[in-house]
Amino acid sequence: MEDYKKKRKFDKTKEPEGEIKKDKSQKRIFVIQEHHASHLHWDLRLEKEGVLKSWAIPKGVPIDEDVKRLAIPTEDHPMGYATFEGEIPEGSYGAGQVKIWDNGTYNLLKWEDREIKVDFNGDKIKGIYVMIRTQRGWLLFKKKT
Ligand code: MN
Repeated sequence: MEDYKKKRKFDKTKEPEGEIKKDKSQKRIFVIQEHHASHLHWDLRLEKEGVLKSWAIPKGVPIDEDVKRLAIPTEDHPMGYATFEGEIPEGSYGAGQVKIWDNGTYNLLKWEDREIKVDFNGDKIKGIYVMIRTQRGWLLFKKKT
């Protein structure tokens, strides 16, 4: 969250300033935001330990099995960011339009240094997804059923 705050001027952007919340329920939320920054990408955010763990995915979260996508870890975001949509002003970090592409809840199946496995229940994204850390970065794909 320090990185998140350092990169933003909250008198300029409408993005939430945010606080850390305590994990109370079993169901965790996720959001995928379509972000029209200098390069279009999708931001995947998973609730964990009171913050949103975040990855930038240049080509978006795959809907189909057998498609592997690069996922680049970014700074933790505050929980309030899960509902953020709007324009980040020019000259600000991440300037451009943010739209919610999908959201919902997920069940955490595994969270280790090199592998994360979650079961998504969103409108577009459903089922078990795996993220594997390789030497070239994280790869995200939908598990075969
Ligand atoms: Mn982004």
